[in-house]
Amino acid sequence: MTPTIAACIWAIGVIAWLAIRIPRRRKAKRTKVVADQVTLTERTTLGLCIVGLVIVPIIYLTSDILDYANYNFSPWVALLGTVAMAVFVALFYLSHKQLDKNWSVTLEVREDHKLVDHGLYAHIRHPMYTSFWLWGIAQALLIPNWVAGFSGVVAVAILYFSRIGNEEAMMRQEFGKDYDAYCKRTKRLVPKLF
Ligand code: SAH
Repeated sequence: MTPTIAACIWAIGVIAWLAIRIPRRRKAKRTKVVADQVTLTERTTLGLCIVGLVIVPIIYLTSDILDYANYNFSPWVALLGTVAMAVFVALFYLSHKQLDKNWSVTLEVREDHKLVDHGLYAHIRHPMYTSFWLWGIAQALLIPNWVAGFSGVVAVAILYFSRIGNEEAMMRQEFGKDYDAYCKRTKRLVPKLF
């Protein structure tokens, strides 16, 4: 494992994100939105994620302005990052597939919205957010730079903590007791833990 291979693995993760997300966004447009909780904070934190997870690492890879924050590369750490990136792609793909027509990039309730509680959702309520945390962690392990390595996980943390309460409140408003019962039998991000 070399820094160049680690950077390529990071880039493959980003390409996989686009390859999964672009067709899903197109498909989602066909199902009407009946309610939403889209605030300025929500839009800003989503934009921040693109900056932290994609734009800052691209600046690092294509210029030398962040080189002051470089540290020594470790092949073993990068190998762990590769595993985290692979699990990100798998969870991201599966959560999209299982949410299907109920997925939105932001906080929205769709026409005929169903509460998904099978597959990954039988174990945790937010597998897609687990995948985003893993993407941020993978970036930190693959890119040996304090700024470009950690910008992703910081952006994911901001999005996650500002969104999670609102998302669960929206789901509770839509599904009432069913959502309460679902919350009782599942954790948020890691099965049986938290
Ligand atoms: N938080 C989930 C989904 C992220 S996508 C995850 O991390 O996997 C965000 C949208 O998914 C929200 O707007 C909400 O409408 C929808 N959603 C979240 N959990 C859901 C569930 N269990 N069933 C159906 N839709 C869900």
